[in-house]
Parts: sequence; structure tokens; C-alpha cells
Amino acid sequence: MTTTRARSVQHFIDGAFEDSADAQPIDRLAPATDEVVSIVQAGGAPEVARAVGAARAAFDEGPWPRMTGMERSIILGRVAELIDRDAAELAALDAEETGKPIRLAEGDIAGAAGLWRYAASLALTMSGSTYTSNGPDFTGLVLREPIGVVGLIVPWNFPALILSQKLPFALAAGCTAVVKPSELTSSSAQHLVRLAAEAGVPRGVIGMVVGDGRAGQAIAEADGIDLVSFTGSTATGRRVIAASTGNIKKLSLELGGNAANVVFADADLEDAAAGVVFGVNFNNGECCVSQPRLLVEDSIADDFVAEVARQTRMLRVGQPMDRTTDVGALIHAGHLQKVTSYIGGAADEGGEVIVGGTRVTDGLLARGQFVAPTVIDRVGPESAAFQDEIFGPVLTVTRFHDQDEAVRLANGVQYGLANSVWSKNVDTVLQVAKRLKSGTVYANTTIDAPPQMPFGGYKASGVGREMGQAGFEEFTELKSVNIRTGKRAASFAIRAGA
Ligand code: NAP
Repeated sequence: MTTTRARSVQHFIDGAFEDSADAQPIDRLAPATDEVVSIVQAGGAPEVARAVGAARAAFDEGPWPRMTGMERSIILGRVAELIDRDAAELAALDAEETGKPIRLAEGDIAGAAGLWRYAASLALTMSGSTYTSNGPDFTGLVLREPIGVVGLIVPWNFPALILSQKLPFALAAGCTAVVKPSELTSSSAQHLVRLAAEAGVPRGVIGMVVGDGRAGQAIAEADGIDLVSFTGSTATGRRVIAASTGNIKKLSLELGGNAANVVFADADLEDAAAGVVFGVNFNNGECCVSQPRLLVEDSIADDFVAEVARQTRMLRVGQPMDRTTDVGALIHAGHLQKVTSYIGGAADEGGEVIVGGTRVTDGLLARGQFVAPTVIDRVGPESAAFQDEIFGPVLTVTRFHDQDEAVRLANGVQYGLANSVWSKNVDTVLQVAKRLKSGTVYANTTIDAPPQMPFGGYKASGVGREMGQAGFEEFTELKSVNIRTGKRAASFAIRAGA
């Protein structure tokens, strides 16, 4: 159903918002109500080519890469202030289009402002190194330079936040950018791009092409782009790799995850149970570092699982704008279908669904994509529900005997983005943290990601890092300048040993 308040979402090319020349726009249905809330232009190769052309000109000839770090930092800091000013509006856009609870969307926007502030500080740190170890006649300079024009492809689960894990870092380094948000959640990106212009980011430095995967594919293929920073599924990540080979562009890939919460008998079990329930249900379970696999030591498993089940039953499924909602609507009907089919598959394989397991259609939720928070006990490691990224509020429980088995189970999936370990024994925490094959390990906590710590995946969870100094440096190139002082001896004579 189309409502009169449906927003228009346009491309932003060379400093102006515009529609596609001829393609039919895409209707975005709010996942909680099934009403059309946004009408999104469908961009493709022509729009990407023009946005890349403007970003290329802005990089090759414009002021942005030539400003001092301080000048860029001041503008990025101003964007953070404007995000604070418009926080309520930005949070409402993300809550409506993703279906996530408004309280979480507000947290995302506060986090986004923090990322712009942190990146503003990094603009001042751009530096290389000097080698004085090459003998008295040589000085080796390693210069750090912005990589050029970057393509930033963003998924739907944290629209403003993940864009803010990329764009301000690229801008801080002096790059120019072409952004592609998900067709499902483009409105907050449109707002952020507008705020960046208001803050003083010059024309052409940021372009945005909205639309479906065709726009993303065109960015991955574009010869005028030097690096693509992509966040999304591992399957699409593989397509981005294949599409990017034309000009051998650099890639930073933040892909899928399937984290484990590893709970030992000597953990603070009250804390751990609350962490497990939060870790899998946060953001409706639609989170790359969501923790859908509970691995629990068998000596405490029955009591611990009973407590996790009790807390899960207390979660409130509801409309995103309701402040008492803990779990909102899943992103679209097809995704709801996928999540419930994993629950059915695990039950068919002998898993015991002890909480939830079904779609929620009560009262106001009848037209939305809601699923009950679910706990499935006694799931084996060969089950698809254990191996795959379900991306919903669904917890599987698997028991282990000792540390070796716990580590084997935790590492026994293709992903390696994040895991948690719960124990009050420092030996156990450190040993397990070192043995887990994931880019992040949370110890006695879950889903905390301070912006100064690098974030990224092992194995099929990706390549490269976001955030931290490492995330900033992804957007740079190193150039070695070897300087000889004094007169250079003849090369051939040196080679002959004369
Ligand atoms: P997705 O389907 O892979 O889409 C990600 C982005 O890529 C969207 O903007 C999408 O556009 C675009 N896209 C689609 N086809 C493309 C193509 N052929 N070439 C280039 N771009 C293309 O992922 P999603 O469903 O939005 O997001 C969920 C996935 O992201 C999960 O696997 C999750 O774990 C992962 N994720 C990872 C991290 C991390 O930091 N590692 C963070 C968040 C999410 P459309 O949406 O318009 O089709």
C-alpha cells in the first residue's frame, strides 16, 4: 500500500540530487507495516559513471585532497554536530526502513556521530616513516597518500552506522567517494550526504547512487574507482571480487558472520545468560557479529539453558517505534521465510525448539515480518542452523566437554568475524581468545565495538579492517621515495665490484 508520506530517495551526483533518466523507481515497504515508505531511484552504470567522473575530478583537481588534515578534520567534526542535531530524524528513518527498535536506531546514530568525530581526529595523523638505515648517502621516505576515488557499498542492517564506518575514514584520508546504500534502507544515507554538503564537504567529493545490486555491480566494475569497501554477505562479496578485476582495484570486504558464545562452567552465569540473550537478539539478530550459537559446558548446560530460555521468553516483540520493543520486524518477507525455514530444518534434524519458533502475527503485528525469539536446544555441528548465517533472533545450543572441543566447535564454520568467551579464569579466557579464528573476541562481554579498535574478519568473513588506525589506513597507499645525497657512483662499476 502506498501512503502519501512516502519519501523520495534520489542520486547525489556532482553536488545535486537527481532522478534516474528512465529506470522505474523502487518502492520500499516498511517491514513492520507493509506500507510503502520510500520511493527509491534505480541507478545503474550510467549514474555510477557520472558520479565516478565527478569524484575523479574532485580528487585529481579539487581542493579536498589538497587541504591540510586540520581543515578536513574541522569539516568532518561539523558533520558529527549536524548528525547530533538531526539524530531523532535519522533514527526514525533507520527504524522505519530496517524494522529495528527505535532505541537501537538511536544508539546507531549516536555511534555514527562518534565515528565521524573519531575519523576527524585521524585526519591529523596521516603519516609515513623515514629510514636512516640505508647508509650515510641515502634517506628513505615512506609517504602515505590517499588512495584516490573509493566505492562504498553498504548493507541494510545498520544503514547510517556502517556508512559511517567507511565514509568519514575515507574522507579523513583525503579520498573522494561514491556511495551505494541498500535499496531497502537508503533514506538515512541521503540525509547524511546532505549533512556532509551542509558541513562544507566540497562538490563532487561525495557522490551517491541509489538502487539495487546493479548499482553496486557497476561500482565494483568501474575503472575510475581505486578501492571498493564493501559490507554485505559473503555471496555478494564473491561477486564484488570477480567484478573488480578489470583495473585490479584494492578491496576491503566486511562479510558474513556466525559467532559463538562459549560459556564455561566457571563463568559469572548470570552475566553470561544475559549476554547470550542480548548477543543473539540484538538488532533482531540481523547483525554480522550476532551470536546465534551457544556453546555451553555440559556440567552446567541444563540450568544455564533454562535461564537463557526464561530470559528469552521475556523479550517483547513489537513495532519499531514502540519504546518497549526489544525485537522488531525482520527486513522483508523473503528473509522471514528464510529464518523460519532454518528453525523448521533444525527441528527436523532433532533439535528441540524450547522457546518461540514461529511467526508473530498478533494484533498490530499482523501485517509485518515478525518472528518470535527462538531457542533450539541440542543442535549438532553438522546442522545448517549451526553452519549458516541465519540472521534472525534464533539461538542454537550445543554442549561441549572441554576447552579443545569448545574451540573446535566455535571454529568449525566457514566464518570468522567474532566470538565471545565467558569464564572467570584468566588462563581460560586468554587461551581460548588466542585459539579462536575470528577478527574479534569478546571476553565476558558481547557486541562491544569501540571505534579505535580495528574490526574485520578471518576466513570467509572478509579481507581488511575497518575502524581504528588500520581502518583509516585501508584508504591510503604507501609510496617509497629513496633519496640519494651527494654524487652517485656508476652502477655498472659497482655491480662489477670495481
Ligand atoms: P548483500 O545482499 O550482500 O548486500 C550488501 C550491499 O551490496 C547492498 O547495498 C546490495 O544492494 C549490494 N549488492 C547487491 N548485489 C551486488 C553486486 N552484485 N555487486 C555489488 N553490490 C551488490 O548483504 P545484505 O543482505 O544487505 O546484508 C547482510 C549481510 O551483510 C550479512 O551477511 C551480514 O553478516 C553482512 N554484514 C557484515 C558486516 C561486517 O562488518 N562484516 C556488517 C554488516 C553486515 P541491494 O541491497 O540494493 O541489493
